[in-house]
Amino acid sequence: MATAPRFWRQNPSRYNMVGIRCNSCGRNFFPPRAICPVCHRKSVGKMEPVKFKGEGKIYSFTEVHEGLDEKASMRPYWVAMVELDEGPKVTGQVIDCDACDLEIGTRVRAVLRKLSEEGPAGVIHYGYKFVPVKGK
Ligand SMILES: [Zn+2]
Repeated sequence: MATAPRFWRQNPSRYNMVGIRCNSCGRNFFPPRAICPVCHRKSVGKMEPVKFKGEGKIYSFTEVHEGLDEKASMRPYWVAMVELDEGPKVTGQVIDCDACDLEIGTRVRAVLRKLSEEGPAGVIHYGYKFVPVKGK
């Protein structure tokens, strides 16, 4: 693999689900971090970006009826903790599931969605949401 800085430029983590692997203990993490929380100093120089498939299964989920701020007016929505195939658990909203038969173990994949837009400069924030994987 090329040096880490070049990798990051070519594959910014906001467009691809890029996590990081600790080559000391072999664990994957998302979002990427500089130091392995398990190995600490032993992981220095051994953290390597890896591209995740962005698929996993629902580990736990909850239906949210009331939110804060801009989400307050939305219909109930679903927030799930997803265990990625690569190992890390990621929390995100589950969308495209009006007939929501979500259950523990439901296969989902991450999609990049616009979360909000703010200010006169129109700064757009992106983040991951999850959609059920059909036919699995
Ligand atoms: Zn480690």
